[in-house]
Amino acid sequence: MESTEALWNHRTMALDFSFPEEVVELRDRVRRFVETEVRPVEEECDRTGKWREGIIALRKKARAEGLWNPHLPAGWGGMGLGPIGMATVSAECGRARIAAFVLNCQAPDEGNMHTLLRFGTDEQKEKYLRPLTEGRVRSCFAMTEPEVAGSDPTGIQTHALKEGDNWVINGHKWFISGARGAKFAIVIARTDPDADPPQARNTAFIVETDTPGWSVVRDIETMAGQHNHCEITLENVVVGDDAILGERGGGHLLGQARLGPGRLAHCMRWLGTCEVALEMMVERSLNRELHGGVLADKQGIQWKISDSAMELYQGKLMVLHAAYLLEKGKPFKQEISMAKYHVANTLWRILDRAIQVHGGLGYSSDSPLEKMMRQARSARLVDGADEVHLSQIARLVFEAYKRDGTTRSATGYELLY
Ligand SMILES: Cc1cc2nc3c(=O)[nH]c(=O)nc-3n(C[C@H](O)[C@H](O)[C@H](O)COP(=O)(O)OP(=O)(O)OC[C@H]3O[C@@H](n4cnc5c(N)ncnc54)[C@H](O)[C@@H]3O)c2cc1C
Repeated sequence: MESTEALWNHRTMALDFSFPEEVVELRDRVRRFVETEVRPVEEECDRTGKWREGIIALRKKARAEGLWNPHLPAGWGGMGLGPIGMATVSAECGRARIAAFVLNCQAPDEGNMHTLLRFGTDEQKEKYLRPLTEGRVRSCFAMTEPEVAGSDPTGIQTHALKEGDNWVINGHKWFISGARGAKFAIVIARTDPDADPPQARNTAFIVETDTPGWSVVRDIETMAGQHNHCEITLENVVVGDDAILGERGGGHLLGQARLGPGRLAHCMRWLGTCEVALEMMVERSLNRELHGGVLADKQGIQWKISDSAMELYQGKLMVLHAAYLLEKGKPFKQEISMAKYHVANTLWRILDRAIQVHGGLGYSSDSPLEKMMRQARSARLVDGADEVHLSQIARLVFEAYKRDGTTRSATGYELLY
């Protein structure tokens, strides 16, 4: 008689949740590296404030151990991981604040490297991508402006005017992550104000930050402190035609192409942070004694833990499915919006529950949770605010229904059951 497993095996199809062996091996190496090398240095630096020394030493170590540029092809000194492999590595990086930077796959450079790979000319790749891959420079991506809604890039006011062979750029940007210390910026500026559709109005330019007219006004103070999210002015910044990245009028497209995978990369890291918060919640529940038992015995606490576990599980599935679609070159817009919204909100909720379970300690800066929560708040704003994703998700659900008479294709591409 055949075993139940064998019977089921007859019926299984090509749905396989396992990772290739080399990805598992790599994930485990990154996990060990983050746990045994990065986290202790991070804790030490939190105490001493000697971040520079700590990070430089860790980056050297990561390179020596072959844990460098996981997101890049081997030809660019990378580990050659696609979105699915990156999902595992980035989740490990999300367990420590500086881990992504240590492996040279931090935002916004990771997204900029992908963008340069895809849209850059050979000269641009050599000049700007090469030093990024070698960790010699950093970069930033400058799109959002204080005067107009960042959620609608067709309103961008920073403009580039053609003068002879050059472009003269004027404008005002803010919340430009990593701007202080960046060697260059990818700036989105309006070049064709009358273009129809409006999405064709903007062009992406590579602007070196030592170009006269580029100024960092300030590092904006946020609820999480100052983290190099800067306000920038561009006053008569002159660049040549060779500064255009991609096509003239292709700035919107380039931004979208960059943001899709970029959003997912954020989600991957946030899953790691969710995991840390859940583990802290569990640890505290198991050890905090009160009312004749420990917190873990109380149903009210168990529900927080089970809700968190389920939301994290959903998040992992959503991120992996979106990564799979990206990797296979299938439509992914809906799934990335859903993953981005879900994971950003899961992160917020799990941190909130973890703080609740820790009581006064969780609210205090004796615990890392309060800092994690202040940093997590931006997840619901960056790379598309919650409402932008919700509107987009609903739009595609309506479209699917009108087109197919069913919403199936908008609730997980090719998960047509
Ligand atoms: C920490 C941090 C880092 C950032 N890094 C960068 C960076 O490196 N480069 C860069 O260019 N930008 C960056 N940004 C900017 C970020 O992308 C924008 O803040 C975001 O796109 C929202 O734009 P906005 O702030 O202008 O808000 P607005 O567009 O003015 O929107 C305000 C609010 O309106 C609501 N809303 C928007 N659209 C809709 C809608 N259709 N329906 C209903 N409600 C809606 C949302 O609640 C939204 O939060 C960063 C922001 C933060 C906080």
